[in-house]
Amino acid sequence: MKIQMTTPLVEIDGDEMTRVLWRMIKDTLLLPYIDLKTEYFDLGLQSRNDTGDRITVDAANAAKRLGVAVKCATITPNKQRMEEFPWLKQMWKSPNGTLRAILDGTVFRAPITVDCIKPSVKTWQAPITIARHAYGDVYSGVEFFADEPGDVKMTFTGVSGKTAEYQLQTLDSPAVWRGMHNKDTSILSFARACFNYALSTKQDLWFSTKDTISKVYDGRFKDIFEREFDRNFRAEFEKLGITYFYTLIDDAVARVMRSKGGFVWALKNYDGDVMSDMVSSAFGALALMTSVLVSPDGNYEFEAAHGTVTRHYYRYLQGETTSTNPIATIFAWTGALRKRGELDGLADLVAFGERLERACLDTLQGGVMTKDLSGLVDDGFAVKAVTTQEFLDAVREKL
Ligand code: NAP
Ligand code: MG
Repeated sequence: MKIQMTTPLVEIDGDEMTRVLWRMIKDTLLLPYIDLKTEYFDLGLQSRNDTGDRITVDAANAAKRLGVAVKCATITPNKQRMEEFPWLKQMWKSPNGTLRAILDGTVFRAPITVDCIKPSVKTWQAPITIARHAYGDVYSGVEFFADEPGDVKMTFTGVSGKTAEYQLQTLDSPAVWRGMHNKDTSILSFARACFNYALSTKQDLWFSTKDTISKVYDGRFKDIFEREFDRNFRAEFEKLGITYFYTLIDDAVARVMRSKGGFVWALKNYDGDVMSDMVSSAFGALALMTSVLVSPDGNYEFEAAHGTVTRHYYRYLQGETTSTNPIATIFAWTGALRKRGELDGLADLVAFGERLERACLDTLQGGVMTKDLSGLVDDGFAVKAVTTQEFLDAVREKL
């Protein structure tokens, strides 16, 4: 008998090669075993165009209502895509941006690790998940170059009429200047998303800023995290035996490099931007990176971190069989199924998600992998590079 579900998953379909993978994964690894219940939203570019992008908003609202979504990669149209698809009514906004705005989330990126592909950092034994705050700071700053000496002041006018003025500097040289901000409400959402993610994955949470130098700005982040932790999360952390650890960013960087991994590292916007590229490249390949959007009220949207793999899609359209790596997309499904199972108390569903993940890793460890990974394994490890369907069949065999 197939595994039963109670609440449907929000299933968000997408574009190009990942849309092809989506079907293959469902047919080979999910539908034979699970009585899959989903509310289906087609976010393929055609459907977004036909609905005036209404479908994206509907999908986001469904994710808010049902709590767990799984998303396929989607095209974000740019100028080149407008030429490629002349039927596009407009340059539709990034679907991920729309989902993030409606769910008010933080993005967590975690590498999938396997013994035969070693991280570049010798001591790392378990994945490091980066939690990046995706609002404010330099990304919505105002900056300018002044070509002569002068002075800059910042003035504040409150809604109550209260005013304040701050002198930045008086300078004797041409100079670059910048003003930036962050909001209490956004920092608090970020903190809650991080604490909830650490609880749901049972990992320690690290947070780092430069509050010794930036006493007010970074200090505010540190204080909001600390206060929220004490008020609403300390007890649950203690129950699970996990810790919240704040340290200065330079100290954190040094510790990360000497760590064994296996924790969540929360970072401000710019720090997270830089560190996520460092951590993900040190762990391996793009198709071994998962991504989950977590909202402060506990909604989850799982996806692969990579895009629609356009180059493979064009080869596929010409009738070639491709060796596109489906692992991150499979893990988006298993993440969603496990979370759905946890929320609904369905032990079978949780166990299935775990078994499917294990089957993927065992297949890799058995030397069967797609071409993007076959060059990354240790010297002397025997590898058979296979097509996507052959890989999925091998995973099914293990399963
Ligand atoms: P991409 O789709 O991630 O692909 C970049 C390259 O990385 C591919 O050409 C391929 O290299 C390799 N690659 C990525 N995923 C792979 C996989 N699963 N298996 C094997 N190789 C893989 O990024 P892009 O080409 O910059 O973007 C393509 C489209 O995706 C764009 O329209 C963009 O808007 C969209 N996108 C969507 C999301 C999302 O929905 N979350 C994220 C990023 C981009 P080789 O060709 O060398 O084999
Ligand atoms: Mg970056």
